[in-house]
Amino acid sequence: MSDEMFASDAVAGSILKRVAHYPGVGHSPESFCPIEQAPLDSPTVDCSSASERASGAKRAQPAVAVRGLTKSYGDVPVLKGIDLTANQGDVISIIGASGSGKSTALRCINLLETPDAGEIEICGEVVRMRSGSHGRNGPADRHQIERIRRTAGMVFQSFNLWSHLTVLQNVIEAPIHVLQKPRKEAIDHALHLLEKVGLSDKLNHYPSRLSGGQQQRAAIARTLAMQPKVMLFDEPTSALDPELVGEVLRVIRGLVEEGRTMLLVTHEMRFAREVSDKVVFLHQGRVEEEGTPDRLFDQPESDQTRKFLRQQF
Ligand code: ADP
Ligand code: MG
Repeated sequence: MSDEMFASDAVAGSILKRVAHYPGVGHSPESFCPIEQAPLDSPTVDCSSASERASGAKRAQPAVAVRGLTKSYGDVPVLKGIDLTANQGDVISIIGASGSGKSTALRCINLLETPDAGEIEICGEVVRMRSGSHGRNGPADRHQIERIRRTAGMVFQSFNLWSHLTVLQNVIEAPIHVLQKPRKEAIDHALHLLEKVGLSDKLNHYPSRLSGGQQQRAAIARTLAMQPKVMLFDEPTSALDPELVGEVLRVIRGLVEEGRTMLLVTHEMRFAREVSDKVVFLHQGRVEEEGTPDRLFDQPESDQTRKFLRQQF
């Protein structure tokens, strides 16, 4: 079913209205995927990573597995067959030059973009694809799209907070309206998360009154409020003044220490080296090289990786 067909559905209309404001949704017509009610957890999903890493236990089932992912915009191929695996509790940094496809890869993984082909598996659940025009595929099941979106929560470079809502309102909005959490429960959880990101004193501030670092920390709290099992960070510090980068990296480091599974697109090479289990270097829509941070940064095998790293340090 096309997005247009879905939009004409009467019930979907109210959902669309709400979702039109959901951060990261609707960046482009192509990126539209509706959000609607669905059980929080699919029966097949078991990705409770936070305590697992702390206890040293990792499961065999990958939290994220991407196989042969391709995506073109018009005739321009942007992803040319990406393979990527993150086990539960893994922190995978994705690095690469501007335009190499990093954002597109993350946006495909949580289905803000429709992949053309390939397989995406999140916490054991394989995204069901349907055949589309010109031999291209797309996600088949809206309920599954929504479930995957919640399972893999995204933090954007440009924060994408709702400007007309306070910090607290930003954090409770989706839990109340999408997860149908009771208001008090949503507020209690939000207060806990905002304390964790150091914003307890900014609950009633509007985003315009916050620094970039504070906005990004609020955005992280808002993503956490949806209880994602995997976190996708797309250059979370790139829009920040240099003096504000550290406060956001500290929050992300805290999440790493909790054992959260994350894919982190970043240009903060030192940070990537410190926190990652694996670093993936994307070059022109392909995984050019991947490895442990020490191996990739100290002994890059590919000329392209070497060239990129020379420019970074
Ligand atoms: P990165 O995040 O590594 O900088 P992107 O994934 O944003 O790279 O973009 C990869 C390529 O895809 C770039 O050439 C970019 O111009 C192009 N691109 C990204 N999004 C769109 C879009 N919505 N429409 C057309 N081209 C796009
Ligand atoms: Mg990008």
